[in-house]
Amino acid sequence: MVMKIKCPKCKGVAELGDDFSYVRCSNCSLDMTYGEYIKYLTYNDSTYADILGDYTGSTEGTTAGSLDEW
Ligand SMILES: [Zn+2]
Repeated sequence: MVMKIKCPKCKGVAELGDDFSYVRCSNCSLDMTYGEYIKYLTYNDSTYADILGDYTGSTEGTTAGSLDEW
């Protein structure tokens, strides 16, 4: 089961892999983990940071690197 999501890089259609294991975009060859994808979004678009604020707030104290362990 692959979900279609908006590519943070080219604004095209990217694929979110099963179990949030990867994010890939055939348009711009984006290929990263979901953790990296989240960091990419929050770094490049403050609106995403607002959306994800509840999540990041609830895990305060953990490093961003822990996202890779999902
Ligand atoms: Zn793309």
